[in-house]
Amino acid sequence: MAKIFCVANQKGGVGKTTTAVNLAAGLAKIDQRVLLVDLDPQGNATMGAGINKAELESSVYEVLLGLADVKTARKSSETGGFDVLPANRELAGAEVEMVELDNREKRLKDAINAVESEYDFVLIDCPPALSMLTLNGLCAAHGVIIPMQCEYYALEGLSDLVNTIKKVHGKLNPDLRIIGLLRVMFDPRMTLSQQVSAQLEQHFGDKVFKTIIPRNVRLAEAPSYGMPGVTFDPSSKGAQAYISFGAEMVERIKTM
Ligand code: ADP
Ligand code: MG
Repeated sequence: MAKIFCVANQKGGVGKTTTAVNLAAGLAKIDQRVLLVDLDPQGNATMGAGINKAELESSVYEVLLGLADVKTARKSSETGGFDVLPANRELAGAEVEMVELDNREKRLKDAINAVESEYDFVLIDCPPALSMLTLNGLCAAHGVIIPMQCEYYALEGLSDLVNTIKKVHGKLNPDLRIIGLLRVMFDPRMTLSQQVSAQLEQHFGDKVFKTIIPRNVRLAEAPSYGMPGVTFDPSSKGAQAYISFGAEMVERIKTM
């Protein structure tokens, strides 16, 4: 059965999508079977995996509303080597439309159940809010990967996310836990980055992943080619870091 992870942080622009897409590609490179779920109406993970969000017959939106199943809505990412449950702007409406549905925070979990045996990993790219969509991600997952930039305000939003995860763990999904904090867009030349990074290690201990993702322009360029950085320029520092992160995750799930 697949291990299911949310990539979450309620801040925007912190590297969630880059992490979800490149971890998916990094895991695929070491022969892991991966499903990437795009749970953000912006559809950035979908596009970054080389799938045109404007040409979807069905998407995660239909899946959440019970109008399609994952098997019909999923696509194969040719540039990444994994499957994608894609998203586009339609998904923004799901939040409101789901209000009337039973069991509305567990719609994604139930949908993923049907394909779980086909994958080693399911990665869920969450939107930048603690919304009903994110709640669906958290209810479906075994754990949360939290990407963070090592900057002054990084820790500020973290407590809201940690509290939400605790509540979901207590009331809705006893399996859920924080797998780890991933330092991303890291610039080792900045003293502040090193200070915040050391603080994170002090406070969170082995909940901080060993792998550090550097700031690397190739990772930022790759999406405009519809490719994960990992396959766009495999030898770049950013790609190498995400490949290492994939290996770290494979080790990590052995103890879960
Ligand atoms: P989020 O999904 O949290 O909103 P993104 O993954 O979309 O964040 O990243 C925000 C921006 O930062 C994007 O333009 C992305 O290309 C860029 N970016 C993310 N990670 C890196 C990195 N390690 N190095 C350079 N640019 C990055
Ligand atoms: Mg994103």
